Amino acid sequence: MMEWAGFRPLRPGRIHLYCMKCRRKQSNVPRGKYDPPRAELVQSFCERCGQGGKDGPEYFLDKHGKAISYEEIERIVNKLHPIR
Ligand SMILES: [Zn+2]
Repeated sequence: MMEWAGFRPLRPGRIHLYCMKCRRKQSNVPRGKYDPPRAELVQSFCERCGQGGKDGPEYFLDKHGKAISYEEIERIVNKLHPIR
């Protein structure tokens, strides 16, 4: 699978990061609180390009390189922060 070229094997509790700006690949970065558990790769901005902001775009891919839908991510967020 092309997506995984240049990454090391994924360790439990970690996720791979591909920076959409500088195209840097970082293996086994700590997961965010809202990262879908089955996501293995996130396409976003690295801390150098995103200036530490969490407002950048984030696209999560599963182990098959298939995008995880926004609806699924929303369900995870809603589970952590239920609307009363
Ligand atoms: Zn970057």
